[in-house]
Amino acid sequence: MKKKLIAGNWKMNGNTASNAALLQALLAGSSTWACRVAVCVPDVYIAQVQALVAGGPIEYGAQNISAYASGAYTGESSADMLREFGVRYAIVGHSERRQYHGETDAVVAKKAQAALGAGITPIVCVGETLEEHEAGKTEDVVKRQMAAVIHENGHCISEIVVAYEPVWAIGTGKTASPEMAQSVHAVLRAQLRAATPNADRVSILYGGSMNAANAAQLLSQPDIDGGLVGGASLKAADFLNIIAAASKA
Ligand code: PEP
Repeated sequence: MKKKLIAGNWKMNGNTASNAALLQALLAGSSTWACRVAVCVPDVYIAQVQALVAGGPIEYGAQNISAYASGAYTGESSADMLREFGVRYAIVGHSERRQYHGETDAVVAKKAQAALGAGITPIVCVGETLEEHEAGKTEDVVKRQMAAVIHENGHCISEIVVAYEPVWAIGTGKTASPEMAQSVHAVLRAQLRAATPNADRVSILYGGSMNAANAAQLLSQPDIDGGLVGGASLKAADFLNIIAAASKA
């Protein structure tokens, strides 16, 4: 059975002092971990994080990646640049990127492709807005978002990680019930199975206000292979509790 993956998304938070304190506290609690742990950090701190976690159990990633290899794309970091700093994961298609930076399904699919081409695992985020949720469109939306990534990445699709993140649950304190999340994860798993014989290798994470109190129940669902954690990944005690729940699940 594959190990659960708990990935923190620091978003645009932290500074060199707080990053060091957070990572040191996580490392101090790492002896009992039985799951994979990663932190996805702002690009400017990747080198710092690389040095602080070297040789230990914490993997690290970026929160975005350019769809392009190089050139006049001001403000972007390419897959090769990230790889040079040992980046293992890149979040692509986070709802904040889709919402504030106009990232379309097609752009997200290209970003996943750029990551895979450099040996970086894209954590592909899909999820419906509150309006779509209330209109009963959840399945249609996540399947459409996923289909674009499958279409662009063909046989490599078993190398991705998926994160189902209902937009209405991100940073709101509202969480999808374990049953609701499981049913969406099962839809995504079926879609992946239709695309690759290796679909069961793909980790499908749940994201959206995961915390120490709800993690165990969410992670006990058969198709929930881990969590993408925003706010709670910034506090060592909270993140360690989620990791502990994943280690037991
Ligand atoms: C996220 O931004 O990916 C996320 C899941 O945030 P939060 O845990 O704060 O809802």
